[in-house]
Amino acid sequence: MYDVAVIGGGAAGLTFSVMAKRQNPKLNILILEKNARVGKKLAVTGNGRCNITNTDLSASHFHGDREFAQKLIDKFGFMDTVGFFGSIGVLIKKEENGKCYPYSLQASSVVDALRFECDRLGVITLCENAVTEIIENKGYYTVKGNGNYTAKTVVFAAGGMSGMSKYGTDGSAYKLLKKHGLINPKPAIVQIKTENTLTRPLKGIKVYATVKIGSHTDFGEVLFCDYGLSGPPVLQLSRYAENGSTLYLDLMPEYTQNDIEKMIAERASLDREPSEFFTGMLNKRVGQTLIKMFGQDSKKLAQAIKNLPFTLCGNTGFVNAQTTHGGFDTKMIKEDTSSKIYKGVYIIGEALNVDGDCGGYNLQLAFASANAAAKSVSGYLK
Ligand SMILES: Cc1cc2nc3c(=O)[nH]c(=O)nc-3n(C[C@H](O)[C@H](O)[C@H](O)COP(=O)(O)OP(=O)(O)OC[C@H]3O[C@@H](n4cnc5c(N)ncnc54)[C@H](O)[C@@H]3O)c2cc1C
Repeated sequence: MYDVAVIGGGAAGLTFSVMAKRQNPKLNILILEKNARVGKKLAVTGNGRCNITNTDLSASHFHGDREFAQKLIDKFGFMDTVGFFGSIGVLIKKEENGKCYPYSLQASSVVDALRFECDRLGVITLCENAVTEIIENKGYYTVKGNGNYTAKTVVFAAGGMSGMSKYGTDGSAYKLLKKHGLINPKPAIVQIKTENTLTRPLKGIKVYATVKIGSHTDFGEVLFCDYGLSGPPVLQLSRYAENGSTLYLDLMPEYTQNDIEKMIAERASLDREPSEFFTGMLNKRVGQTLIKMFGQDSKKLAQAIKNLPFTLCGNTGFVNAQTTHGGFDTKMIKEDTSSKIYKGVYIIGEALNVDGDCGGYNLQLAFASANAAAKSVSGYLK
């Protein structure tokens, strides 16, 4: 009989196990992981560098049940993450926009440090062991994987659906807690598909632009793709992209439409070939495409540069998403992440109906929810 069976050896499950053992070294903890090794997704985060947290953890960076997220973060914030990882030998450094990374700049080193600490503390990890059923049995749980494992409590840390099928998270685990309310999971932090007459010819080109969807804006490098748009500001706003609505690019955010109209009128005196009209002002191919669409009408061109429209038609799906918007309904989950439906079951990490912006927020949520569960589980077992 185990004290705790942890379903999933990802960011949340591994962190929980270390934290819970530190709260109570006597706990007998078993991690069941579907993949051949733990932390497969964690090892590819941040383009292999692991954007582990952010110095700015204000509420606006969290989505879904933002209040629930904020309560978790209030109890386990930026300095707690730095302290926790410092205690397992991972030094953290800050880069641009408050984004923090391990000093090694290797996501694999974060996985290794967690793995080593789990081993040192005596956490038992069984890989290639996909859980297919959790059965309630007289106050205990039987967790079915390669064998039947009995535990007093279960920590559901099986993730959401991001990176679907690449990292072991395909959404099939939600059905392990059938009675639990689920808010429809949607891909977030994902490339956006648009009507592509404009994006396809510009495939591969990157521009700095402000991206606007409704009242939401973000600035940064935008990449034109054959299916639509990518790049950090596009990924960031993807959770607001509704089919049929319009995304606008402002290709010259520092200037007003009037400024641009004047610049275009002045350029006319340079007497250039139309194909070279914007040379030195815009990316050459972007400029050529605009001239093709609007001729040399300065008003229309200035309007297009400030508000280049793209009709939205979906996204590239869970396979490419970095997180899941939606998940187990937090209204049925207490602040310590224990389920109100299944007594003695905790739900942590991406499986919860909370998600964060790109920038270290999703891992911070995984750590903060792991902390809440770890603080509570020993008390529950007593
Ligand atoms: C490409 C990519 C890059 C990212 N980069 C960043 C970043 O830089 N910063 C950031 O904050 N966030 C990033 N994220 C998001 C972040 O990785 C996740 O939000 C985080 O890993 C969630 O942690 P988790 O433990 O809840 O889930 P996961 O890390 O997904 O772990 C869940 C684990 O459960 C296992 N599992 C699933 N079902 C079962 C089952 N039935 N039985 C047993 N085991 C099971 C899975 O195999 C997996 O190992 C990125 C995501 C992706 C896909």
